[in-house]
Amino acid sequence: MHSLAKLDHAHIWHPFTQMRDWLMREPVVIVKGEGAVLHDVRGRKYLDANSSIWTNLHGHDHPQINAAIRRQLEKIAHSSALGLANEPASLLAEKLVEAANPPSVVRHPRLEKVFFSDDGSTALEVALKLAYEFTRRTRGKPARQKSLHAGRPKFLSLQGAYHGDTAGAVSLGHIDLFHKAYGGLLFKTDQVMSPYCYRCPFNRAKPERADAREYRKCNWECIGQVEQKFSLRKKKGDSYAAFVFEPAMQGAAGMIPQPATWLKKVSEIARSHGALLIGDEVMTGFGRTGGARLPTSRITKGLSPPTSGILFGCHQENVQPDFLCLAKGLTGGYLPMAATLTTQNIFNAFLGEYHEFKTFFHGHSYTGNQLGAAASLASLQILQSDKSLRARQKIETVLRDQLDSLWPLPNVGDIRQVGLIAGIELVRDWRNREAFDLRERAGIRVCEAMARRGVLTRPVGNVIVLMPPYCTTPIQVECTVKALWTAIVETFR
Ligand code: PMP
Repeated sequence: MHSLAKLDHAHIWHPFTQMRDWLMREPVVIVKGEGAVLHDVRGRKYLDANSSIWTNLHGHDHPQINAAIRRQLEKIAHSSALGLANEPASLLAEKLVEAANPPSVVRHPRLEKVFFSDDGSTALEVALKLAYEFTRRTRGKPARQKSLHAGRPKFLSLQGAYHGDTAGAVSLGHIDLFHKAYGGLLFKTDQVMSPYCYRCPFNRAKPERADAREYRKCNWECIGQVEQKFSLRKKKGDSYAAFVFEPAMQGAAGMIPQPATWLKKVSEIARSHGALLIGDEVMTGFGRTGGARLPTSRITKGLSPPTSGILFGCHQENVQPDFLCLAKGLTGGYLPMAATLTTQNIFNAFLGEYHEFKTFFHGHSYTGNQLGAAASLASLQILQSDKSLRARQKIETVLRDQLDSLWPLPNVGDIRQVGLIAGIELVRDWRNREAFDLRERAGIRVCEAMARRGVLTRPVGNVIVLMPPYCTTPIQVECTVKALWTAIVETFR
């Protein structure tokens, strides 16, 4: 075993990993990255098919981001945001506000203020605390409080939701496997059906060899259930403080895509009941959901594409949340940094005389970190270039074409793609949608077989995730899907 692997085995406890299994084999030790390729200590090369757990946008060792970090490093790596402002964080906040309020989509509410933190969990934690406190301050106390919990602002999120691992973010989540053990540490939130067309009890369509969103037969019962949840709360003389969702596609829930108009409709319901919207774009943000489409008029007229494009899943449905939570891809996948964007209205509720103590008492040591902000500025610039826009369009199409080759496999139940995110749900037999028991490790085994073919990704349960960096070439996309095809055949032979 390589000496670095031995050190890892001796001391490192890996996240979301059964360490007994981990300790049974030599881990891949990454020493270098180049575009969509990772190199290990033994000289092997791998395609980074999940963009290093959904973080990397433009590939590894990107000259523009490297240079931006180096330039910043020559000045300063970090100074505190507690009591001080800094250059790249100010510039980044302006750019994020610009990107979060694109002229082509709904303009209200305008996202004006940026609270920086460290990762997806903290971005959600910030939104949660702000929404809680804003609601408490603006709604006032209900006339009668039967219990300590009665008047507390309540939150609604989706079935299978995952919003991070800090206690508040876990409370918003509904994945029993991850969250049940910590029940005693958490506060209660409600959950509502998510539009998981492939396994929807209301979908009366027989399985077909297509994305279940396309052949579903239903009466939007999932939206009816959202309406019911809000109405029920109203009957209790209460209303939700906020509705929390991932737009376009729920990630860790199992790559569950939303049929067109679902988000628009449920957001309207939530708003009509006075709830705030918390959009978790930790996974979906920064072009992942494929907002790079050129308007046809521009293509036919031979015009160059708009340089901005839509960067967020919410905006594809013309929904503007009150809180936009960003992390992962913010720095292009280089450094841990997050941002929670919100409105002037929320901000105003925290203004007051010092002695009123309306201050938002929350913050982290590395808030507004200069290196992270410099990387983010460079990443945004690349993202908004015509070159990146075209590359994203191209590989989105190639990915879609390539994924079609998986339909003949009997163990492929559903293939769902949103932009540059794809989930391939493995089943025992596509005709009856029978799921593998998690203990069979079907997803893990397929990913292990892919790794043997030089493609790295991680499953969510029985769903194989493909989320290539935007610099991935069409041939690399082809290799990725071929490796998946062979891995599925080998695993279930
Ligand atoms: N929200 C979503 C939608 C996520 O996918 C994740 C992480 N996978 C998080 C929040 C938490 O982010 P982090 O791991 O950076 O804390």
